[in-house]
Amino acid sequence: MSFSKVLYSATQINDVVQELANQINMKYADVTFQNPLVLICILKGSFIFFSDITRKINIPQIHEFMTVSSYINDRSTGKINILADITIDIKGKDVLIIEDIFDTGVTLDCLLKELEKRNPKSLECCVLLSKPTMVKVPIKPAFVGIELNPPEFVIGYGLDYNQLFRNLPFIAVPTNETIKLFKRYT
Ligand code: 5GP
Ligand code: MG
Repeated sequence: MSFSKVLYSATQINDVVQELANQINMKYADVTFQNPLVLICILKGSFIFFSDITRKINIPQIHEFMTVSSYINDRSTGKINILADITIDIKGKDVLIIEDIFDTGVTLDCLLKELEKRNPKSLECCVLLSKPTMVKVPIKPAFVGIELNPPEFVIGYGLDYNQLFRNLPFIAVPTNETIKLFKRYT
C-alpha cells in the first residue's frame, strides 16, 4: 500500500539543495574561521534538510538547534514560544536560519524578530519549500528552494503528518486514506 503521491524525488531534492548551497557559498564567501557563519536548524522538520545542506556549504560554519512553536491564536501580536533555544550569543555574527517550509510565514516572522533583538551582524533565512499564495507576513526568505503551487500539505524529507513519515526520502502528498488513518482527535 502506498501512503502518498511523490512530488519531488530524492534526486530532485538533492539538486535543489545543491543549488541553494551554491547561492549560500557565494553570498557568504567572505566568512572566516575567526567569525564563522552560524547555521540554525529549526527542529524538528528541518533536521534532514539541515544535515544535507550543511555538507554542501563549504565555508566556515557552526551549528545550533532551536525548537519553536507559534501561538496559532495569537498571530496578531506575533508571539512565539521558544521550547529549546540556541546555546551561543549571536551578537556580531552572521546568522542563517535553515527552515523546512515557509507557509503563512508567521513562525519565521516571529523568530526573525526575536533573533534580531540579539544584534547579529546579519540575519537571513533559507527554506527548502515555500507556499507563496499562503504568506501573511511582509518578509521573504533570502534563499528559497521550491515554490509549492498549489500549496499542498506535504510530508517526507523531515516533514511529518502527526509526527509520522519524516523518514521518507522524497517529498510527497499524503493520500486521503493516510490522512484519515493517522488523524488525531484531541
Ligand atoms: P507558518 O508559520 O509559516 O505558517 O508555518 C510553518 C510551519 O508549519 C512549518 O515549519 C511546518 O512545521 C508547518 N507546515 C506548514 N506547511 C506544512 C506542510 O505542508 N507539511 C508539514 N508537514 N508541515 C507544514
Ligand atoms: Mg518547521
